[in-house]
Amino acid sequence: PLASVPMAPKDPMFGLSAAFRADTDPKKVDLGVGAYRDDNAKPWVLSVVKKADEILRQTPDLNHEYLPIAGLNEYLAASQQLVFGKDSQILHNHRVATMQTISGTGALHLGARFLSKFFPESDAKRVHVSSPPYVNHLPILHDACLETAFYPYYTPTTKSLDCDALLATLHAIPEHSIVLLHACAHNPTGVDPTQSQWRQIASVMRERQHLPFFDSAYQGFASGDLDADAWAIRHFVSLDFPALLVAQSYAKNFGLYGERTGCLHVVAQDADLAARIKSQMEKLQRVNISTPPAYGARIASTVLSSPALFSEWQEDLRTMSGRIVEMRRALRALLEKGKGEEGKWKHLTEQTGMFCYTGLDPEQVRVLREKWHVYLTGDGRVSVSGLNWGNVRYVAEAFGAVEGM
Ligand code: PMP
Repeated sequence: PLASVPMAPKDPMFGLSAAFRADTDPKKVDLGVGAYRDDNAKPWVLSVVKKADEILRQTPDLNHEYLPIAGLNEYLAASQQLVFGKDSQILHNHRVATMQTISGTGALHLGARFLSKFFPESDAKRVHVSSPPYVNHLPILHDACLETAFYPYYTPTTKSLDCDALLATLHAIPEHSIVLLHACAHNPTGVDPTQSQWRQIASVMRERQHLPFFDSAYQGFASGDLDADAWAIRHFVSLDFPALLVAQSYAKNFGLYGERTGCLHVVAQDADLAARIKSQMEKLQRVNISTPPAYGARIASTVLSSPALFSEWQEDLRTMSGRIVEMRRALRALLEKGKGEEGKWKHLTEQTGMFCYTGLDPEQVRVLREKWHVYLTGDGRVSVSGLNWGNVRYVAEAFGAVEGM
């Protein structure tokens, strides 16, 4: 009965990594990788994560029992405070239903499943996503049987946000639409709205009664400042939207990629509704993963609940974001040097977070890969953390060579 199962296409990201690994040229550079690398192009275990790990190892009663369906209690509370702020009124009023999830992907998926089941049937039961979207947004939403549409976001000509077109679309779509937003460090473009643009976006969305669904995969990783990277979410919360969702990931900011550590937060109008929402999300969780994995949540809550470890974590975040900013500056300076083209690569330093949309086209990307052994995705997206002082000159030379093609 299963004889006709067709071959599925390979995942483009994981395919790129496999091609990089198979390349035997010593000069090869991986600019596809969606994970932080240190200046030696190696994965980095945060020093605070090593410490939390030690503490856990020395905890006498630690066992391998199941966590509760919603997850580790202290982790849920600490995660809420991290996203919404310690003194947040909605936390005080118990208006947030929080579930521990399989990292950000699981949070997006649980949120999508929840909306698919409970969002009222109407024209507006469609999730609006940025153009271009994060590579996994559409597959996740479609898997949960939600329809999707694009809102304009990035303009190739200026390599920045098309805010007017975005606002016009938010005005034009049906009231009560679901809008998926990147809280900071937009993936793939690296382009974020400014605070004044966020205010405009929030105000139109409030007026049109849209439902904000934030994807927060880079809090603290983008700017090195946990509060600054949560600013957009907190601004929306301050406008008192009747409902708001946040998919939170600890993959990047704790370097806990493989531990699958995240949360879904649903802000509701009151505590009673939040409790009902949580009960329904627990049902969805039970059939999907039964209970979430424990280790990453224990690491995160150990750090989040200790003021000393928390400030060490902030230091680690500044190390990662600082190195990325340094590499953005270095690559830009090398590309513009001596060419009388001041500002041509300014998007490298204006964009933020792990990724940069270079504007390189698929043909240039192909040549970079085949001739220079420099690997990036076909859309010209560069993972800046793949750059280091050992390869940035070579990458600049390679980009310079394909620039005029
Ligand atoms: N959303 C965005 C925008 C991302 O960039 C990522 C990580 N690449 C995720 C969600 C989910 O990642 P994870 O499931 O590893 O937390």
